[in-house]
Order: sequence, then structure tokens, then C-alpha cells
Amino acid sequence: MAPLTWRHHTLLQALLTRGPLSERQFHDVFAAVSGKKPATHQQLFNDTLLKINKDLAYLQFELRACINQYDGMVYYGIVNNTADEESKLGTKYSVPQIAFYKGLLEAILHETGNDGSITSIDALNVRLDNQVIIVDGSQDSQSRLPTSIKNFSFSQKEKTLNELIQDRWLSNTSTGKIGLGTRSFLDLRSWFRSNDIPSCVVCNEACIKASGCPNEGCNVRIHEYCLRKKFSQRKASRACPGCGTEWPRQDGEADGDDNVNEPGEDEAPSANRSSKKRRKRVKAELVEENNNAGPSTAVLRRTLRSAKAEAVEAAQEASSAGASQATRASKRRKK
Ligand SMILES: [Zn+2]
Ligand SMILES: [Zn+2]
Repeated sequence: MAPLTWRHHTLLQALLTRGPLSERQFHDVFAAVSGKKPATHQQLFNDTLLKINKDLAYLQFELRACINQYDGMVYYGIVNNTADEESKLGTKYSVPQIAFYKGLLEAILHETGNDGSITSIDALNVRLDNQVIIVDGSQDSQSRLPTSIKNFSFSQKEKTLNELIQDRWLSNTSTGKIGLGTRSFLDLRSWFRSNDIPSCVVCNEACIKASGCPNEGCNVRIHEYCLRKKFSQRKASRACPGCGTEWPRQDGEADGDDNVNEPGEDEAPSANRSSKKRRKRVKAELVEENNNAGPSTAVLRRTLRSAKAEAVEAAQEASSAGASQATRASKRRKK
């Protein structure tokens, strides 16, 4: 197998230092290095990702695409396929910070409104102690908690919350609450599955932010962007695929007049606003990251270089399950 070329390296570098990148940003990088647009050269694009993933598989990394469920946009990023949060977050975050992230994740996923977000007050009230397993399970397990967990202060929580948002493990939603970030969507796909997060009947991905069937007895859930796609034809049946109940029309759905901004559950315009805000923030992040390329990326880059020779060989045998998954996902999106 031919080794990766500078083109592959440039794509990887862009994702590692600036990622996750929106589909548009990533396509732009691809067009810049290959001279060809992914839209018109889809096979080349897919082959390139496949090749990168064959080499990354050896290092348990994967180039993956996902949809950020708050803005409905596709993002590309490199994920660490080792199973535990410690190794995903560990190079930067401390044990209590990781416990806090896990607590936040749980709170966001178990929030009942299908909204996929919690208020910042609720976020700061998330407890760390039930994220730590005390092995002997004795009565006084509370007192046996590590002091770093017990003494994790309100201001440490506040600081961690900001860092997690900065690093895009979490995000500020358009409604001013705290939700998952693009990095979590990229990273936690299989975790969502193994934790019984209900999936969308249209795309089969986990529902973090979604609409529930209006029939209370029915537990069908559909992402808002899937709903828009499914019911995009004005005359199409809006029956729930589970129970047949008519699904109410949402704001932001094409209904002949797209200039009407109704108050209330106004999704589309605010999502736009927030993505503009996010772009600005991402830009600021880029500048910062370029100034002090994080230790984790530096290490990874070194590992990549030194391991390249072996990776080329090993990747030939390595399972390409991850690679084909990414390709499948990108094919599905193109439909
Ligand atoms: Zn969906
Ligand atoms: Zn239903």
C-alpha cells in the first residue's frame, strides 16, 4: 500500500489543529490540496478518507463525520477510539474534571424535554461523587472519596465548564443553555448506543436533541433536521411512522412563506445566529490554538510521524470497519 502523501497529511493536520471542522471548511481544505471539489469528485473524496482511516486505525484513531444535533450541520473530526473518557480527555483534564464532564453528560442525556440541554445553574449543581466508583462499597464510602473530588469547588466547576465549551466537548445552545459539543457528538456515537439513548426513526442515530411524537403514548423520536427532510413536501403525509398521529408543523419548515418568524419555539433563526456566534468563537480558538498548539496534538503529531512506517504495514491487516463506517455515513448524507 502506498504511504500517505502530503495531501493526506494536510487534511489530517487541519483536523488535528483546527478541528472539528464543518463540512464546508473540510471540503474547502480538500479542494485546496487536491484541486478537486468533493461535490463533483465524491469517489476521490471517499477513497481519500478511507486511505487515511486505514492508517489511523493502527493508532486507534478515526476520521469521522457527524451531525451536530443543535445546528443540524455536518462536522468532520479525528476521534480517539479507545473506550474510556480518561484517555480521550486525559491529556488535558484532571480526574475531577472528567468526573464533572461525565456528570454533565448524564444530566444532559437524561433531561426529559428532548431538548438535550440543561441550564447553567443545573450544570454547576451536577455532583461528582456518584461518578466515582468506590470499590469496596462500604457504608462510609462518602468519606473515602478522593479529596480532589470532594473539594471540587463551584469556581472550579465554572472554569471547567468554560474549558469544555471552549474545547467543544460542550456548547452554549441557542436558547442560552448548556448542551453537548461537536466533539462529543463525534466521539460518543457508540457510547450512545450502548447506553440506550433512544434513536431517531429516520436516521437511526441517537436522539440528543429531537422532537417527540405528539401522542404521549408513543415514544417515536425524530431529529428536527430529519423531520424537516422527511416532511419537506407540502402535501406529504405527516403521520407518525409509529402510531400514525399527525405530526405538527414546525417553525423553520418550508411552508411557502419563509420570512415569517413566529415567536415561541423559534428554532431556525436562532440556530443561524448561534452558528454565526460559534464561527466567531471557533476563529478565536484557532488563533489561540495556533499560538500554543496543545500538548495532546503535539504528542499525537510526533506519534504519527514515528509510527507511520509501521502503520503503513499494519494498516493493511487492520480492520477498516471504522473507515467504511465514515464512508457509509457520508454516502447516506449525500442522498
Ligand atoms: Zn435523525
Ligand atoms: Zn407516534
